[in-house]
Amino acid sequence: MSVHPDRLVVHAQGEPRRNARYVLYWMQSAQRPWDNAALDYAVTRANELDLPLLVVFGLMSDYPEANVRHYRFMLEGLAQTAPHLKRNGMGFRLRSGSPPAVAAAYAGYAALVVTDGAYLNHTRAWREQLARDAGCPVVEVDSELVVPVRRASDKREFAARTIRPKLHRQVDEFLHEQPQPTVTVEWNGQADLEADASLARCDSKPNDDVTEADLSDVKALCTRLPLDTSVHEVSRLYSGGPEHARSRFEAFLDDSFVHYSDHRNQPHTDDSSGMSMHLQFGQVSPLRLLLEAKKHLDSYGDALKEQYEDFFEELLVRRELAYNYCFYEPNYDSYDALPGWAKQTLSAHAHDERRPLYSLEELQASQTEDEYWNAANTEMRETGYMHNYMRMYWGKQIILWSPTPEEAFSRVLYLNNTFFLDGRNPASYANCAWIFGLHDRPWTEREIFGTVRIMVPAGLKRKCNMTAYLEKVDRLSRFIHEAPA
Ligand SMILES: Cc1cc2nc3c(=O)[nH]c(=O)nc-3n(C[C@H](O)[C@H](O)[C@H](O)COP(=O)(O)OP(=O)(O)OC[C@H]3O[C@@H](n4cnc5c(N)ncnc54)[C@H](O)[C@@H]3O)c2cc1C
Repeated sequence: MSVHPDRLVVHAQGEPRRNARYVLYWMQSAQRPWDNAALDYAVTRANELDLPLLVVFGLMSDYPEANVRHYRFMLEGLAQTAPHLKRNGMGFRLRSGSPPAVAAAYAGYAALVVTDGAYLNHTRAWREQLARDAGCPVVEVDSELVVPVRRASDKREFAARTIRPKLHRQVDEFLHEQPQPTVTVEWNGQADLEADASLARCDSKPNDDVTEADLSDVKALCTRLPLDTSVHEVSRLYSGGPEHARSRFEAFLDDSFVHYSDHRNQPHTDDSSGMSMHLQFGQVSPLRLLLEAKKHLDSYGDALKEQYEDFFEELLVRRELAYNYCFYEPNYDSYDALPGWAKQTLSAHAHDERRPLYSLEELQASQTEDEYWNAANTEMRETGYMHNYMRMYWGKQIILWSPTPEEAFSRVLYLNNTFFLDGRNPASYANCAWIFGLHDRPWTEREIFGTVRIMVPAGLKRKCNMTAYLEKVDRLSRFIHEAPA
């Protein structure tokens, strides 16, 4: 078995269904055809049972907080993943409907169902629902983390300093190449008929108004689906897909990795990996990213040591801390889940004078007195991305300009999840809460913030080339709206 046993979570026990026609992989969080532990586990089980493998994806058009920007990026990814699966002997179905209901519909003829990692409340609830409805074993594979979330820690961690030693101690057990099994029984026309017969028996047959064939024209599919179009798509700048993720990461290693540590506080540069949006849709595996960065380190030696350590800290420690937070804190999207000291100090300063105060609409339109903040917000709104250093500054200022800290919290989260391509992710919830003190410590007491850490424009001006950043945002915003040449 190539998949580490500690990645497996059995939601419904039992023997594989007899007379089954296939093993089913319900693809949801790991939307990639390679470096995918859930897919590898499904292939291994299908081979053991001498059955073909069917991969299904349930597409709902009202996914929590998602708009056409997110859908376009995700569907571009599935348009790369589906043909790759088919070329490698697997079946693939895309159907509209609630994801666990689509999976349950296809589970009727399945020996067992395999699915990928879930870390947020609704995706975890979906796996429980499927376990009740599938009528066969259901196994989840923790596919989206280097160290599986339950292995890394069995509780909500306090801060990076508490999870770091746990991750460092365990990572070597997971940080190595995984052999990728290939199917021994190929998907064929007969299996196609049987998969459709499984649906015919099902009470809630998924709608076939969308099928895998629609992935040949993602733009048209996005127009046809009843999506929230209040936010424009950004495909011109950032296209989704495992192949794009791979080439973008190769370019990062070749051209930018060497600058990674020096440019982390330089928002006018583009020397971070850009992987967060691909990670959000499971188009790339964090394990693959670390392995490739490590190979680079091994080739170039000490010259890249600091860069590797910094990248490791972000991708392993900070990212997996965020997943730990959402996994063990059911109210991860609520102000209530902030640490006691932070809520106390913000509440003690709740009546401090706030001037100016801006409405959410003014913030969204980048209409504040602060040109740096306006540029950052414009970068997010127009392009779907923002450099990490500006994200910190951006979030902190919203506390200053909102009537209450609670209102500031909901604004930060709303803007983050509406506009960022990497929004709605565990890293979104943990980092938005970080603005308000999560995973941090008390600092010197100030107005409005109390002892929550502040960031000031003078600091930005001193440390960063803000003139170049303003120019960059202007250039990108114009590019996104220009007619293609
Ligand atoms: C207010 C605020 C909001 C944020 N919102 C999000 C969000 O919605 N989604 C999101 O993925 N990240 C978020 N981050 C974290 C971070 O800013 C982004 O992950 C990073 O900027 C993405 O760019 P990159 O992929 O080039 O990062 P790199 O610097 O190349 O880092 C590599 C990977 O490490 C992970 N990572 C980096 N920094 C963090 C961090 N602080 N916490 C957790 N993981 C991290 C990401 O997966 C990232 O892709 C937010 C940070 C702040 C301060």
